Amino acid sequence: MFKRILVANRGEIALRVIRCLREMNIQSVLACSEEDLDSIPAMMAQKTVCIGPAKVMDSYLNQDAVLEAALKTGCEAVHPGYGFLSENADFAAKCEEYGIKFIGPPSSVIRLMGDKQSAKKLMRENGVPVVPGSDGLVKNVEEALEIAEKIGYPVLIKATAGGGGKGMRRVEDASQMERAFISAGAEAEAAFGNGDVYLEKCIVDPRHIEVQIIADKFGNVVQLGERDCSLQKRNQKLLEEAPAWNLKEPLRKKIQAAAVAAAKAAGYESAGTVEFVLDADGNFYFIEMNTRIQVEHPVTEAVTGVDLVREQILTAVGRPLSVKQEEISVRGHAIECRINALEPGKIETLHFPDGYGVRVESHLYEGYTVSSSYDSMIAKMIVYGKDRLEAIRRLRRVLEEVIIDGIHTNVHLMYLLTCHREFIRGGFNTSCFERIEPELREELTKVGEQE
Ligand code: ADP
Ligand code: ADP
Ligand code: MG
Repeated sequence: MFKRILVANRGEIALRVIRCLREMNIQSVLACSEEDLDSIPAMMAQKTVCIGPAKVMDSYLNQDAVLEAALKTGCEAVHPGYGFLSENADFAAKCEEYGIKFIGPPSSVIRLMGDKQSAKKLMRENGVPVVPGSDGLVKNVEEALEIAEKIGYPVLIKATAGGGGKGMRRVEDASQMERAFISAGAEAEAAFGNGDVYLEKCIVDPRHIEVQIIADKFGNVVQLGERDCSLQKRNQKLLEEAPAWNLKEPLRKKIQAAAVAAAKAAGYESAGTVEFVLDADGNFYFIEMNTRIQVEHPVTEAVTGVDLVREQILTAVGRPLSVKQEEISVRGHAIECRINALEPGKIETLHFPDGYGVRVESHLYEGYTVSSSYDSMIAKMIVYGKDRLEAIRRLRRVLEEVIIDGIHTNVHLMYLLTCHREFIRGGFNTSCFERIEPELREELTKVGEQE
């Protein structure tokens, strides 16, 4: 087993990994920015190495600094968390070169799956349904117009290096193409250093269904059921559930089988997620594979009892998966709600909910200052119930109980969401939240909360 692992991330996911390492009796070294030296992950890790200033380009995305931190502290492996270097094939390859295990799949697999249009090509060749669209990258506006004409509007322009909903534009008709094409490319260039885009038919009002996979180097692939992440704002997830509500049995099995086929086609290892969109007629299409641990992994842990970070570490050291497919069963219902800061600032008063069926993942403490240098997610509230209604009631209780004073957050808005009929009914699609948001905001003003 590894003796020491470098955690190359920050916030709640760094803490999540460090906690797991402690339980496995593995030493943790945190690589963090100057600004995060006084964070809880820094206090929890056995050792902390400063890898640069707050700016992510100079610290969390500084490959040489992270690698050097691992080498000089004698770490045998690097856990990249999510975001930052977690899906960077060049960084994973550098780790391999220096004999440091990158906790994730081999760099060749990251390269293949991290480039969305090459991943789609591989899926198509392996019989996994993909969204109709361009055959590879689209070079200019003329080509984009031509392809869109063929597949039919609306279409999506998507960044091949995309992530977190960035570099994506919906185009309703030909008149919008030029503008969208230029701005999607520019946004992708700024965010990922790669402005290449491709075209995809826009599936109208789909559900986002994804399947959690774990795989080892012996070719075992186990799927841990699906998650429904349809509650989104601007293509970014806000709330996730496991299992997906009211997904009929043959369809559920088909989606899960497609995910296993995708992982096998990719020669996958470690934990990963295969994402699909599902239309109202029950057609589903592969959109991408995330070759890392995901923000919403705790809902799967809640309903299956499998510690996904532990499986990542076991498979990284070359051990087989600790579970077999026939041992996996999904029990009850879990919901995760992402709590986002709406502004930077100091946390004055903090109370996190607790109690039966509740898990809170957060790096906040009283007196902590939320910085504008990083992602706005400050906490995740995960609830578990014997069924969906119990989970919803529990989530409502949790959102009533939480106190985060000093900055504005989305807590009140999410609370109102848990009371909304469309949410309670379940089976909503990806445009639901944006449609009901004005209604929720009106409610907010009524109760005198400015969110
Ligand atoms: P998940 O499916 O795990 O929710 P998200 O797309 O929400 O994935 O991304 C998880 C986190 O990682 C978010 O905070 C997002 O801003 C960040 N992220 C996602 N992709 C990238 C990327 N390519 N580069 C940098 N950060 C990213
Ligand atoms: P990212 O890497 O940013 O997560 P994805 O390809 O996973 O990008 O897409 C993010 C979200 O955008 C999806 O969850 C879905 O809501 C929406 N989306 C992506 N592709 C399509 C599509 N072809 N049709 C409709 N919605 C889509
Ligand atoms: Mg995605």
